[in-house]
Amino acid sequence: MIQCASCRQDIAEEASKCPYCQGYQTWYKNPHYSNWIFLLPFLGFISWSTGIFTEKDYQMYRDDFSISEENIVVMPNNRTRLITYRVANNTEYKWKHISYEIIGKHQGKLIAANTDIDYGWVVQPHSESLLTAKVPFMPGASSWEFKIKDLESARY
Ligand SMILES: [Zn+2]
Repeated sequence: MIQCASCRQDIAEEASKCPYCQGYQTWYKNPHYSNWIFLLPFLGFISWSTGIFTEKDYQMYRDDFSISEENIVVMPNNRTRLITYRVANNTEYKWKHISYEIIGKHQGKLIAANTDIDYGWVVQPHSESLLTAKVPFMPGASSWEFKIKDLESARY
């Protein structure tokens, strides 16, 4: 014996429908739902083929982005740098939430690295967007390399 899923009366283990309350013991035995089950693969195919629900993986599109340095401002007091980069998005998708790394170098040698995320940053498909990174003082560094670590695809 098992208990009915809705009225808790003891019923036979193999019962698909409760004799007391007429409740179906598994949702897929209920004709109200089972008539629609055949639609699931179809809906899955539609969402997959249109890409509506598919998150794009930035790592697959990284070669479709190019970055150029626009401007450097050195703050007078603490030698923090504000470096503005122009990020060109050559994909057909909109991206947001940039996570990036600034690598301070001197004569090709790595001095220090700093990572940050800008949640407000957005770039439209086949478009460009500026990003100003606040780079902490890296003693000895004379050049800075900008690397995108990750982006999220935006649906709208
Ligand atoms: Zn019942």
